[in-house]
Amino acid sequence: MKTDIEIAQAAEIQPITKIAEKIGLSFDDIELYGKYKAKIPLEVLEKFDEQTDGKLVLVTSINPTPAGEGKSTVTVGLADAFARQDKNVMVALREPSLGPVMGIKGGAAGGGFAQVLPMEDINLHFTGDIHAITTANNAISAFLDNSLHQGNPLNIDPRRIIWKRVLDLNDRALRHVTIGLGGPLNGVPREDGFDITVASEIMAVLCLATSISDLKERLARIVIAQNYDRKPVSVGDLGVQGAIAMLLKDALKPNLVQTIEGTPALIHGGPFANIAHGCNSVLATKTALKLADIVITEAGFGADLGGEKFLDIKTRQLGKQPDAVVVVATLRALKMHGGVDKKELTSENVEAVKKGFANLERHIKNMQSYGLPVIVAINQFASDTESEISTLKELTEALGVSVSLTQVFAKGGEGGLDLAEKLSAMLQAKPDFRYLYELNQPLSVKLDKVVTEIYGGSKVNLSPKAKRQMREIEENGWNNLPVCMAKTQYSFSDQANLLAAPEGFEVTVRELIPKIGAGFIVALLGDVMTMPGLPKNPAALKMDVTDDGKISGLF
Ligand code: ADP
Repeated sequence: MKTDIEIAQAAEIQPITKIAEKIGLSFDDIELYGKYKAKIPLEVLEKFDEQTDGKLVLVTSINPTPAGEGKSTVTVGLADAFARQDKNVMVALREPSLGPVMGIKGGAAGGGFAQVLPMEDINLHFTGDIHAITTANNAISAFLDNSLHQGNPLNIDPRRIIWKRVLDLNDRALRHVTIGLGGPLNGVPREDGFDITVASEIMAVLCLATSISDLKERLARIVIAQNYDRKPVSVGDLGVQGAIAMLLKDALKPNLVQTIEGTPALIHGGPFANIAHGCNSVLATKTALKLADIVITEAGFGADLGGEKFLDIKTRQLGKQPDAVVVVATLRALKMHGGVDKKELTSENVEAVKKGFANLERHIKNMQSYGLPVIVAINQFASDTESEISTLKELTEALGVSVSLTQVFAKGGEGGLDLAEKLSAMLQAKPDFRYLYELNQPLSVKLDKVVTEIYGGSKVNLSPKAKRQMREIEENGWNNLPVCMAKTQYSFSDQANLLAAPEGFEVTVRELIPKIGAGFIVALLGDVMTMPGLPKNPAALKMDVTDDGKISGLF
């Protein structure tokens, strides 16, 4: 079989103007970024304001293996399947971050015959949004350090600055740095650090903002430090929200591209689901809902992370809940949850599938607890055996839950027709959605509900630092914000090696970080890193470009 990039390069890509026509957008409605990419200006969205929203399908998954279980692949293939049934359908996905692309994951724009094009651009610099976010983030750092240098009029305590610099790379050496060295002409020495850009609050703000003015207000609210009286200092206090919004004005517009089969796709915003909220932008999903009858979107990592945050954070800004949820499962991940060593996942092991099913079962029940209809998509791999597949189908159906074997990786949209058909029937009903928690409940209750009702844990412990931060959050009146959990993607718990469906475990909240611009409180669980490192043999070792500009090794 060809690699993802070989398939993508062999695909026939259509001019983006043709894709725009499919969703009723004329040449004047889009801003071209070359032949195959375009941005959709916000005024165009306003034109469709009166249009009723399409149906929204959320694709999420079980706790994955490090390679990913194929949510993006299924999202794209499912949309292509709907398109084959002549449905007016769109995809809304996140933009890949260069950190994991160069590190462990390779490309992240789907896989096999279910990909978005132009695959190389989407995985590399795309339309420059992530660079704009990096610059906007670091501009705030520069203005903050300048304020310290110019007599510190805001009385900022340099030991209590929470705003960090960012870079869209995995670079562990930058986690802790000292800046401002070299004497009085070079600023005020202090400790700083770098996060990966996708963990920046600017990324979250961009993904949750609904207009330029909302963007500006959110930017102004971002808390960057405390002053010597332990009061919050914001971007608004620096007075640069207008300048930062200016840097982001184009990045705020959703990016239009296409799937291999020519289905319109919006790729916009890319917060990780383990350290941030994990969904593409509200503006992209809103735009897709106005332009299409069915929108397929994805939330990062498992349903305990991206799924929960999609439902409890994003939908509140979006003003729309999903009409159905697809939980992607693979036999290899279920076998891993059933105790099989990562090197043995391609050998048949029905018993391990049965044992590992506990992970899928909990995710299904969790999604159902929001009042949403759920279908399981088995993302078929070449090594899956007949008896493993039938075991998984039987176990799922025994819960009264629909299941579909999807082969979109190998066959494109054709391999998702059964899933699309089953979903079409499910989309007829209007779900009776309920949130996991209400915003007016105390932060401690929200944390407790996520941990006990979604993760299956028994108790939340707060570190002394988190306890102090919780008091500050209450004093500042930020208690009514949702919580954005940051934890490992591999387990329901805060320990990566607790697989399947662990019970009775306690989790520790290390820190509570107010992200007032984004409008949530990040709870850091376990040792989750906001700046990842590179593996011993990074994916980049296989990447290359020929003299005529052809790329290889992007998976
Ligand atoms: P996720 O969105 O869940 O992280 P992706 O869709 O990005 O997962 O897929 C992860 C990786 O697995 C990609 O490299 C993709 O090409 C590959 N992949 C996905 N589905 C299959 C499949 N059925 N067979 C083989 N490889 C697959």
